[in-house]
Amino acid sequence: MEEYRRHTFKEKGFLMESTSSLEEICWAVGHIIHFLVDPVVLIDRNGEVRAGNRAFLELLGYTEAELKGRAFDGFCRLPSREESLTMLLKRYGSVRELDMGLRTKDGRDIPVSFSVSPVVSNDTSVIYIGIARDRREDLRLLKELEGTKDELKRRIDALEEFREGILYMLHDLDRNENELEEIRRRLKETQEQLFQSSKLKVLGEIAAGLAHELNQPLTVIRGLSQNLLRKTSPRDQDYEKLKLMVDASRRMEEIINHLRVFSRMDEPEFRIIDLNDVIRNTLKMVKELLARHSIEIRLSLSPLPPIRGCANKLEQVIINLATNARDAMPDGGVLSISTRTVDDNGRRYAEVTVSDTGYGIPDDIIHRIFDPFFTTKEEGKGTGLGLSISYSIIKDHRGEIKVRSKKDKGTIFFIRLPTT
Ligand code: ADP
Repeated sequence: MEEYRRHTFKEKGFLMESTSSLEEICWAVGHIIHFLVDPVVLIDRNGEVRAGNRAFLELLGYTEAELKGRAFDGFCRLPSREESLTMLLKRYGSVRELDMGLRTKDGRDIPVSFSVSPVVSNDTSVIYIGIARDRREDLRLLKELEGTKDELKRRIDALEEFREGILYMLHDLDRNENELEEIRRRLKETQEQLFQSSKLKVLGEIAAGLAHELNQPLTVIRGLSQNLLRKTSPRDQDYEKLKLMVDASRRMEEIINHLRVFSRMDEPEFRIIDLNDVIRNTLKMVKELLARHSIEIRLSLSPLPPIRGCANKLEQVIINLATNARDAMPDGGVLSISTRTVDDNGRRYAEVTVSDTGYGIPDDIIHRIFDPFFTTKEEGKGTGLGLSISYSIIKDHRGEIKVRSKKDKGTIFFIRLPTT
């Protein structure tokens, strides 16, 4: 029977055969294990503790006397599927790196990796040597590693979020660049308008002075020449010359009146008005004049929200535009006036469009048409003040006036005024 056991152990490859007696083995092994740093325990074939080294006693917190003779199974906490260590040893002869717990004297379970090998004496008695490897540090490191893994995952997630943020920012940057371009364009436009306004201001002051200085001598000239004309017979050789003088002085008076408006000698009166009414009233005045020049008027007025403005001044703008349109269509044509409501950048505007089918404005002068005294009309016909006056009236209304023109096709003026 013992032969058979020995044979079986051999087969399983765990056998350490000795020529010494069990007592001798126990004595020798008992001495050796005291020098080992790993916890080692000697268990006899009945599963009772025979000896334990210092590391083992310290691990479990017992003295050797307290441990000796106690069933080793009582200290073992096996994975639930295993019955007991003694059963495992009976079945397999040895145990290798079994993850289990060792119950300490104060009731804690210490995780260990436990290996047991038998040693057979000369009379085939068996003693088991069990070596425990404390796994607490391993498990702590494992837990730490798990924590690090979680932290790593969190960081990867954060990085992913960051990446998405960057992508979004890049997209935003792209959009901002477009917006910036639009702002730059508007700034340039505003700068041009500002330049135009400051030029107008200086010229306005000069014009006011001129109008004031010229008015008095002109009244004298006009009065005297009219008087003389009345007294002169049409057959008189000076009659025509006097008539020319009267006409010239009337024309000068007109220019001075223009200058007065230009220099804003008359303060505008701002009221809540309907821009469509302004257009209708203006057309009553210019209808005849346009008809005489074979100009057809096409009107398309949409209902508009009210604006705050000076009806007289705005009428003057429409008259200026209509007069220019008439001059641009010497052989007749179509003058179209339309209105609509426009929403732009969160603001609401009333927009008037005045277009003609005239000869248009050449590209090389279109940027000068709002300049005071700029005219392409022959002497005596244009003052070059109509559009610059219109420009400053629209500016006074916090609006804007723009032009688009195509040679031999016509010209369109756009006026936008903020609604109330
Ligand atoms: P004026 O009519 O006395 O010349 P404006 O300031 O009203 O002065 O106009 C300046 C110039 O702008 C005009 O001389 C003309 O060359 C040009 N212009 C204005 N309106 C038109 C138009 N509808 N078609 C063609 N040219 C125009």
